[in-house]
Amino acid sequence: MSDHATCMYEGCNRPSEVILELGKSQIWLCREHFNQLAYRMLRAAERRGTVSLKDLRVVETGNGKIRILIKRVKSVKK
Ligand SMILES: [Zn+2]
Repeated sequence: MSDHATCMYEGCNRPSEVILELGKSQIWLCREHFNQLAYRMLRAAERRGTVSLKDLRVVETGNGKIRILIKRVKSVKK
């Protein structure tokens, strides 16, 4: 087991409450950042119809901190 005790989101030092499994990596998030991510995924799903964990991209920002991006899908315009 890893001993992460704090949220891995950049700039956040709150205790982690949620573990997100993304491929091989485990992302530890506090409740607030988890909610924020869930909200962003919901909004992305509204725009494009579907979004999954595979659409998330984790960017390491150093010191074990990360940022989570939702991959953009090129919009298909008629
Ligand atoms: Zn956090």
